[in-house]
Amino acid sequence: MLKVNGLCKYFGGIKAVDGCTFNVDRGSITALIGPNGAGKTTAFNCISRTAAPTKGEVWLDGERIDHLRPHKITQRGLSRTFQISRNLADMTVLENVICQSKIGGWRDLMKPAMSTQEIDKAMGILDFLGITRIAYEDGSNLSYGQKKLMDLAALLMSDPKIILLDEPAGGVNPTLLEEIVGHIRKLNDQGMTVLIVEHNMDLIMRLSHRIVVMAQGKVIAEGEPAEIREDPLVLDAYLGGV
Ligand code: ATP
Repeated sequence: MLKVNGLCKYFGGIKAVDGCTFNVDRGSITALIGPNGAGKTTAFNCISRTAAPTKGEVWLDGERIDHLRPHKITQRGLSRTFQISRNLADMTVLENVICQSKIGGWRDLMKPAMSTQEIDKAMGILDFLGITRIAYEDGSNLSYGQKKLMDLAALLMSDPKIILLDEPAGGVNPTLLEEIVGHIRKLNDQGMTVLIVEHNMDLIMRLSHRIVVMAQGKVIAEGEPAEIREDPLVLDAYLGGV
């Protein structure tokens, strides 16, 4: 479904992503892992076009998308979350979910008008995620994990077919973590394709069908969790015996 081919992103002399090639199968949960600075977030940024790749191609459902603007990529069905929540100032969770999806990643302190249809859709998503109780809370008063759920809700507003989750478990308490894992599974069971960057190896091993390992901007291994767990190159580069 998603094909990343020879993707490169250079910052001056730093080769953050250096010829990355991998596929994400439709209906799969694929993890992109690697040590700090491996280039995972930069790869996400290039795929979702929040950064322009230096070289390489990204294909979604047979269409080349690496030249498209981010909102066009969202329209094609690919949406992503960010490591740091994009909580908008002075807005409730409901307003955040609707406005974040409208502005497609750009901060905008104006509150756009919300239609009844949008409110109904957002409330339906909050219900799906079990967080209707916080719909009218100020987004900035949420716990770290609740913000992650709010971001996930905003992501779902665009009816994506593939979602890119950047560290959905980062800084989240264990109870909420299990909730988030459950939601990712539930979405995947309903046909959503998921590409996930995450440092929590236990979560990755439990959740993923396939793992792509990056180090120093390159893909160094690919396979099922059991294979990756045993891969000497991966153990050496990253896992340290997990
Ligand atoms: P982490 O797991 O710590 O989030 P990562 O695998 O997501 O790391 P990136 O954040 O993509 O790695 O960073 C890859 C490399 O690119 C790092 O060396 C980083 O310092 C560098 N880098 C990322 N963004 C920029 C930038 N805007 N300017 C210069 N260098 C950058």
